[in-house]
Parts: sequence; structure tokens; C-alpha cells
Amino acid sequence: MNIYEHPTFQMACQQFETVANYLEIPLNDRDRLKLPKRSMIVSLPIHRDNGSIEVFTGYRVQHHLTLGPTKGGLRYHPDVALGEVAALAMWMSWKCALTGLPYGGAKGGIACDPRTMSIRELERLTRRYTQEMIPFIGPQIDVMAPDVGTNEQTMAWMMDTYSVHVGSTVSSIVTGKPVSVGGSLGRKESTGRGVAYLVNRAMDIVHLNASEATAVVQGFGNVGSVAAWSLVRQGVKIIALSDVNGGIYNRKGIDIWKLEEHIQKHKTLVGYSEADAITNEELLLTPCDILVPAAMERQITEKNAGQIKCRILAEAANGPTTPEADRILEQRPEVFVIPDILCNAGGVIVSYFEWVQDIQSFFWSETEVTDKLFRILEGAFTQVLHMSQKQKISMRMAALALGVKRVQEAKKVRGLFP
Ligand code: NAD
Repeated sequence: MNIYEHPTFQMACQQFETVANYLEIPLNDRDRLKLPKRSMIVSLPIHRDNGSIEVFTGYRVQHHLTLGPTKGGLRYHPDVALGEVAALAMWMSWKCALTGLPYGGAKGGIACDPRTMSIRELERLTRRYTQEMIPFIGPQIDVMAPDVGTNEQTMAWMMDTYSVHVGSTVSSIVTGKPVSVGGSLGRKESTGRGVAYLVNRAMDIVHLNASEATAVVQGFGNVGSVAAWSLVRQGVKIIALSDVNGGIYNRKGIDIWKLEEHIQKHKTLVGYSEADAITNEELLLTPCDILVPAAMERQITEKNAGQIKCRILAEAANGPTTPEADRILEQRPEVFVIPDILCNAGGVIVSYFEWVQDIQSFFWSETEVTDKLFRILEGAFTQVLHMSQKQKISMRMAALALGVKRVQEAKKVRGLFP
């Protein structure tokens, strides 16, 4: 039995095998590149506010240790499972290698529904998870960051729990912290900002003018909302948005200022009066110039890939497109895909900056952070585009090939011990 059995892990493995075939990686080397180095499963008993005790399950997967510490987010969601976390860890490895960061990939998660938990319960759960992870994490071992269902506050609790254990403040143990405790300016915005930067680059390629372009964004959390705001600032009109509860659509454009006021009051964008209600499925099929899936994996499948109507597919989420959908998209050259490991790399790039700033105890201005972020994204985008055009392969294949090849080379020169 494969302990990682999960549709998302299967999808990551399928992608890996396709790239390994393309790169002609010897069969002997493949498992070593593909399989996670270490995986932890922990039971997390906590006191609920009603006096009962509940045991949650937490996971952490560290994919490879060849290039430095491992790095990756922590997810709180009811569907979190070992295989899903392993897939996300694998993608983090290729992403870090593609963008030249000195990290292996990792991911963690707790199967829970943070929306039904109080802030105190979330704090207890986070501290307990951190406590259980102490033997396996450290600024030079494994560094966590926010992902779906977690945020700056979660990272502050983790950093505090770890620091209490060590006996001194260790801000470099996590990234995506509040700026007041060693977080980096521009980290919270980095993923969404990076998405919008790359969309802008893609608009040049497909000859789209921002002021005439329309965008649809699935998921209005950290990444989706910042991406939407950044696109609006470029002059793009947002015509549809969604969250886990449903979507909204207005052909004339959605005023995000007003929408944020609605969300403040109702905790969801559903029910916003100046747009029509649509489902998440309809949202993905809405005709637009830029489609930004910024929620969960496996949203664009063989069922809808032939019907999406956009010029640019900007994969802000991790793994939003299945390999079956990819094969359909490869037959649709009119859709320019910015693959996830490139599109959402802004988050881990600025996490790297945060880690460097914490280690040096020397902090940068937001302009410095954003300039450096765009420089790295520009380099990665240019390399992926160049390889895709020269080798006549998809943008995803090019991005994955660059990432996988770098990890393969590093493993080769380090050798196999003993
Ligand atoms: P988040 O929790 O802040 O937001 C997630 C959003 O998606 C919420 O609006 C939620 O309501 C919505 N959502 C959840 N399930 C949905 C569904 N089935 N259909 C439609 N909407 C749904 O999370 P986030 O940090 O914005 O992460 C979003 C995606 O971006 C994830 O795939 C994550 O792995 C990826 N990502 C995040 C970062 C980061 O820095 N936070 C970095 C790289 C990649």
C-alpha cells in the first residue's frame, strides 16, 4: 500500500513522471527524487471551549533536504490528508528550485475546520502542533509559513511556542509572521502581487491591454484578494469572484472597495447586492481575459478544461489543474498558462527574504522587498518562457523541468551516502 495514496499525490506523481521522461532521468534516480524524505503524523488533543477534549490529526512532510532546510506552508482544512500534504511538499521543491531558493519543499496541515473553531481553540491547536513538531523543525531544518486556513497570527503562536521551548526569541523559525515580531514588509501581499506581476508579463505576450482586460478570481482569501487588488491597480476589470460559499458576477465590474465592506460585515462575499450569484463551477466557465484559480487543487479538470474561456490562466493556487486537463489545454494554444510553481512563487520568495532578514536581524524596506521579488520572478518567467518556446513544450513542462533538473543535479553532485 502506498501511504501517500491520494488523488493530489497521484497527480503530482503523474506530472513528475512526465517531466522525468522528458528529461530522460534514469529509472534508478526517480524514486529518490520523487518520494518524501520524512513524513510525520501527530495526534493533537486539545480542550474545546465546551469542556470536551478532541483529538485532531496533524501532518508534516519534508520532501528533500538536498539544497538546505525545507520550506512550506501549514494548512488548516477539513480535507487535509497525508497524500495531499506530500503532493504540496513535492511542488514546493520544484518551485524553490525553479526560483533558485536554497530550500527543499515541505508542507504541513491539520485536518480541522478553522471556521467552526474559536480563536482560543485555534491557539491551543497551533501550540500543540508546534510542540509535537519541535524535534523535526528549526531555522536550519524546516521553516513553516501560512497557507489555506492559517495566517500571520498562526505563525506568531508557532514562533512563540518554539521560542519558549528554546529559551530565546527565534523569529526565523517561521515566515509570514506579523511585522511586529520579525515578519517582512510585503510578505502578506507577496503571493498575490507576484501573480499580478506575472499576469502583466503574460499580457505582453498575448497582446492584451490591461485597461481593456477582464478577470475572474476563484477564492478571495489572502492570495485571491491581493491578486484581485493588484490587477485592479493595473486597470483590469474584475467581473467575477468567489469564496468557499459561492460566487458573484457583474459584467460591468465589481467594486472591490464596496465588496470588502460587505465581507467585513458578513464574513463572505455571497449576498453582495451589486452582483449576481453564481456557483464556483459557473465562475470557472465565465468568459474573461484572465482566469485566476486561487483556492484549492483540482479545480480545472477534464470536465471543464475544454470550456474555460480565457486568454491567460494564472494558477495562483497550488495544483488547480489536473494532468488530464493539462492535455486538453495543450491542444488550446489560445490559452496562455502561468503554471502554479511559477505563478504563486512570490510567497516563498518573500518568505526566503523574511528568513534572511531574521537571521541577519537587518530589515529591508517594502520597496526593496518588492523590487527583489519582481527581479526573481522576472528571471524565472523569462527562463520558463524561453524554454517553452525553444523546446516547443508547455509552460508547465518547462517550469517543472527546470525545477526537477536542479534538484537532480544537486543530488548527483552530493552523491549517495554511504
Ligand atoms: P486562504 O485560506 O487565505 O483563502 C482561501 C480562499 O479560497 C478563501 O476565500 C476560501 O473561502 C476559498 N475556498 C476554499 N475552498 C474553496 C472551494 N472549494 N471553492 C472556492 N473557493 C474556495 O488561503 P490562501 O493562502 O489565499 O491560499 C489559496 C491558494 O494559494 C492555496 O492553493 C495555497 O496553497 C496557495 N498559495 C498560498 C500562498 C500564501 O502565501 N498564502 C503561497 C503560495 C500558494
